[in-house]
Amino acid sequence: TERAPLSSLSADELAAFLADKQAAYAELKDRGLSLDLTRGKPASDQLDLSEALLSLPTGHTDRSGADVRNYGGLEGLLELREMFAELLGVETAQVICGGNSSLTMMHQALTDLLLWGGPGSERAWKDEPVVKFVCPVPGYDRHFSMLADFGIEMVTVPMNEDGPDVEAVRALVADDPSVKGLWIVPTYANPTGATCSVEVATALMSMPTAAPDFRVFWDNAYALHHLTDTEVKSADALSIAAANGHPDRPIMFASTSKITFAGAGVAVMAMSETNKAWFLKHLGMASIGPDKVNHLRHVQFFGDADGVRAHMRKHRELIAPKFAAVQAALTAELAGLEVAEWTEPTGGYFVNLDVMDGTATRVVQLAKEAGIALTPAGASFPHGQDPRDRNIRLAPTFPPLEQVETAMAGVATCVALAAAEALTR
Ligand code: PMP
Repeated sequence: TERAPLSSLSADELAAFLADKQAAYAELKDRGLSLDLTRGKPASDQLDLSEALLSLPTGHTDRSGADVRNYGGLEGLLELREMFAELLGVETAQVICGGNSSLTMMHQALTDLLLWGGPGSERAWKDEPVVKFVCPVPGYDRHFSMLADFGIEMVTVPMNEDGPDVEAVRALVADDPSVKGLWIVPTYANPTGATCSVEVATALMSMPTAAPDFRVFWDNAYALHHLTDTEVKSADALSIAAANGHPDRPIMFASTSKITFAGAGVAVMAMSETNKAWFLKHLGMASIGPDKVNHLRHVQFFGDADGVRAHMRKHRELIAPKFAAVQAALTAELAGLEVAEWTEPTGGYFVNLDVMDGTATRVVQLAKEAGIALTPAGASFPHGQDPRDRNIRLAPTFPPLEQVETAMAGVATCVALAAAEALTR
């Protein structure tokens, strides 16, 4: 159906549209829904794909003959490191396999930089008058809350379809030595779904920075999480950085949280051998070795890197229909009205919905009152502050398909209603 942009309606037409949406919303509320699109969690049928892990490992020795039940092996099981090296396109020597959370590894890396500084640092970051990070927005809320918790200042740049806005980043890092880092999700970003191109990655890894110890936290949480046949390959950040004379700039992170079990997977880091020696030195003060039993069962469960890729296609089969349902609901209600734009991600866990400026908070409130929980408006910005109050992150993986359909039809109604209210004011 062809629709005129909402802003082009006459006062009478707009009043009729508003009345129509108010009635639809009243009906929605009467249904007494209780639905949740807040967090990017795998659904239980996705967790079931890895149920066999619960009866592994078979035996308790790794390939070298070491007893995985015992202490030791700080950098993780060699065969698992090899598998991740292939999946992430890095060298095995660059990889560490750790506990169940990559977020914890990011926290550790940042803590080490603050307390001691890293390779190339003139002093510990805590002894700098100010430390700033460049944050492409919208971005991952937990990155921002971690930075805020450490008192690190956040300077935003736009997140474009091919990655962070390179010119904006360059301008921030060139002359200000307090700008120490940049944090990105390079593949199927949280929440926009954008993937960092090789050109953008090369610019980020080669640009001059006033800080000699500038770091890019390359959080490749969704490297393997394709939603279509086009399986994008992440830019090879470590090689690009090394080839451009900044081998220690990137620190790569990933995990199997959305591959096997979100609460009991394996987290991974990859970085230059200099960075790795630095990180392991500090890690060795905190641990005598990771959960190698979990490492071994992951190796046995997947067999090899192709086993992981095949496993990811099973996830795709389960979640792609939910992403399609989001598109269908938004298109059905909002196409042509010009009151919202949304991404159609080809991977990852989120859909980014930009509603009419100034209405995101209202949309989330309307949805909440109708029993549909959405991530708070602004969550994808530092300190939860979206300057345009237009951004909403949708996470469709966790609820069953019918609930995604129902919830998204409701959300679309709320978006249209909030826009009509705003235009009527
Ligand atoms: N990074 C990103 C971009 C994420 O979206 C998430 C999970 N929502 C994480 C990291 C958390 O990963 P982990 O479970 O390995 O700590």
